Amino acid sequence: ASGARVQALVIGSGYGGSVAALRLAEAGVEVHLVEMGMAWDTPDADGTIFANTTRPDRRSYWLRTRTKQPLSNFLGFPLDKDVPRYTGILDAEDFSGITVYQGRGVGGGSLVNGGMAVTPRREHFGAVLPTVDAGEMYDRYYPRARAGLGVNEVDPDWWEAADCYRYARVGRKHAERSGFPHLLVPNVYDFAYMEREAAGDVPRSALDGEILYGNNHGKRSLQKTYLARARETGRVTVSPLHRVASVAPAADGGYTVVIEQLDTGGQRTATKTVTARRVFFAAGSVGTSKLLTKLRATGALPALSAEAGKGWGDNGNVMCGRANHLWDPTGSLQSAMPTLGIDNWGAGGAFAEVAPLPTGIETYASFYLSITDNPHRAEFTWNAATETVELSWQRAWKQRSVEMAKSLFDRINKKEGTIYRTDLFGTYKIWGDHLTYHPLGGAVLDRATDNVGRLRGYEGLYAIDGSLIPGNTTVNPFVTITALAERNIEKIVATDLRMS
Ligand code: FAD
Repeated sequence: ASGARVQALVIGSGYGGSVAALRLAEAGVEVHLVEMGMAWDTPDADGTIFANTTRPDRRSYWLRTRTKQPLSNFLGFPLDKDVPRYTGILDAEDFSGITVYQGRGVGGGSLVNGGMAVTPRREHFGAVLPTVDAGEMYDRYYPRARAGLGVNEVDPDWWEAADCYRYARVGRKHAERSGFPHLLVPNVYDFAYMEREAAGDVPRSALDGEILYGNNHGKRSLQKTYLARARETGRVTVSPLHRVASVAPAADGGYTVVIEQLDTGGQRTATKTVTARRVFFAAGSVGTSKLLTKLRATGALPALSAEAGKGWGDNGNVMCGRANHLWDPTGSLQSAMPTLGIDNWGAGGAFAEVAPLPTGIETYASFYLSITDNPHRAEFTWNAATETVELSWQRAWKQRSVEMAKSLFDRINKKEGTIYRTDLFGTYKIWGDHLTYHPLGGAVLDRATDNVGRLRGYEGLYAIDGSLIPGNTTVNPFVTITALAERNIEKIVATDLRMS
């Protein structure tokens, strides 16, 4: 309610926000979790909560009147279509040089992502978070994060024979024949449920292509893990369809937080003001960076570090497809949850996930999302004339990622006598170099914050999400975001809460 005083206000309910809410509540703190997206806990008219990937509707996109599918074309046909404007689940947020895909709703990115739960190789950790003790992370916080997230592994025997992973086995075979290391990667999707889907015993979700617009079954999103446990404490209040607009020091201590309530058309229906002793920015790399950049520039938080808004990277994301020979079908049934990684990070700066292309028909295509060691970093700035936050990313910077991905796929194509698909991102276009799924940075640890995420310039303000990570994690990011949040909140609870 407007005028309320709360001990801790958390902005955003993704990985960082969910960890913060649970651990603060367990320490006895009353937490108000504010989320701009919907709750995603009520079935729509068709009886399902989430829209299917192949049949996008108003639920699929955040305030767009036309879908913006990451794979825009197929066999020469554009895939996008008109949808009613709605506070849907996937935000395709456009900046001048890049479209950043993000989850919107209670659970953040966990609602829409591929569930791949990858821990970086320890020898690479020093490059991921140079000022964090790797021993502590690998002995304590990574295991804690994996347990909290419900990470599980596919049964290798089942995987070897499953129709729905034919595409992954073709990807493995081609990696192997070119001499690239590969591995089965864990996931948060419940593989026991998936086996029952394949057997025809339960409603299909991953095997019905569900991923980008939510999974109706089987996926252990944050709603089912950290957030469920947070609610069980009885100390966490969640406000969906509420967007934080401002945070500024309050006259009598703490912070005044201005919150806008939204309707499902995205219109503001009310403005509320809450006073919070502590505020945790967990709006995601882009959300947190945008807020901090705006609040510093407009005078609400003028003492924030000049580093806030800097050090943003795209985790080197780039996509491509390959056209296989007719003797290498990838299957008309494809599990939407990826399980195979090709690891050429050491030699070529690329880690590729063999991604599904769940079209329901045989495509003879192999599809990949590569994470590459792209060195470019962008900065968020406030444009006072348009009153928007801009990002300095340049499209041309992706060329470095393309070169690293080519270290994998040029060799595979040569060995197999195959070619790239040119129909997935437009006409005669090989590389999906216009987007990222993995925004990272903008409130980098030990630059914009101290070593546990306290924002420099203000006592009681914290960043605790992907914004802390300086642009790259060498693999898919959410396990690292969760583990870092576990580390930081433990130290914050042990020191800051004791003092007040
Ligand atoms: P988020 O999860 O983005 O959460 C931030 C939350 O804050 C959102 O719910 C947002 O709506 C809310 N918010 C933002 N601004 C405000 C505001 N002003 N007021 C209130 N609320 C606000 N990663 C992997 O590791 N493995 C994968 O397989 C994988 N697949 C992916 C597939 C897709 C399609 C996408 C989009 C991402 C994928 N990711 C994957 C990335 C992963 O989901 C993100 O790295 C992760 O969600 C980031 O966590 P976070 O806590 O930083 O922020």
